[in-house]
Amino acid sequence: MSNSLLLEGKVAMISGAASPRGIGLATARMFAEHGAKVVVLDLDERAAAEAAASIGPEHRGYGCNVADRDACQKAADRAVAEFGRIDILINNAGITQPVKTLEIDPASWDRILDVNLRGVLYLSQAVIPQMKKQQSGSIACMSSVSAQRGGGILGGPHYSAAKAGVLGLAKAMAREFGPDNIRVNCVTPGLIDTDITSGKLDDAKKAEIAATIPLNRLGKADEIAGAYLFLASELSGYITGAVIDVNGGMLIHG
Ligand code: NAD
Repeated sequence: MSNSLLLEGKVAMISGAASPRGIGLATARMFAEHGAKVVVLDLDERAAAEAAASIGPEHRGYGCNVADRDACQKAADRAVAEFGRIDILINNAGITQPVKTLEIDPASWDRILDVNLRGVLYLSQAVIPQMKKQQSGSIACMSSVSAQRGGGILGGPHYSAAKAGVLGLAKAMAREFGPDNIRVNCVTPGLIDTDITSGKLDDAKKAEIAATIPLNRLGKADEIAGAYLFLASELSGYITGAVIDVNGGMLIHG
């Protein structure tokens, strides 16, 4: 393993990775720079394929709604047919909605839980059998500071619940699949400047929030990609069931 190419020869699948300014595409790009072949998943096949092509011809993009179990299975089968293996799964896809408890209607609860939590289960269920065959794999799941402190900035209580659910699910999978040499970890970002906040936060509001963060700024997509890279690579070979905070000090806790 060279220090400059941490993922040489690895195949990585990343969900929610077509958004141009998003964490998923930043991760796809960083993983590619570190030698991985990347499968970008997102809702729209063409957007996913274009995102993959934007990082290089050897990468692929598939349409996949992570809340659809069949779609997840098809994506995993297609990746194995194309690349022969899946070494890394990044369960990154997510959506948010800024509402209060009493405003959460049944459809919104389902939508937020389906993408953020059910999607992590379905895509993991689709990929783990291949990782078991290989007797190796690294899965990193996207949670949020919102899970830890009962609300981030934009997500409603259903978003906090879904992202807290991800922490429990990931820890349980870490315990279950450790004997197969499959590691499962989470990242809990604070406020990261991507399109998930677009139209919801103006510059004045961002400055106000930044003033409450010890590092005095919002995070960048690449700074989450870096944490995913660490968790995907052998640098974290003895880390499983862990939660990595990437929040500029927004939540310093024991
Ligand atoms: P983003 O909106 O740029 O990216 C989310 C991506 O997920 C989009 O490409 C979207 O098309 C895709 N997606 C949505 N529903 C999907 C589905 N059902 N199946 C497949 N793909 C789907 O936002 P982002 O900020 O890059 O968010 C990435 C992840 O990070 C999300 O899980 C989000 O909840 C989480 N997160 C973001 C922040 C933040 O401040 N930006 C903080 C904590 C956690």
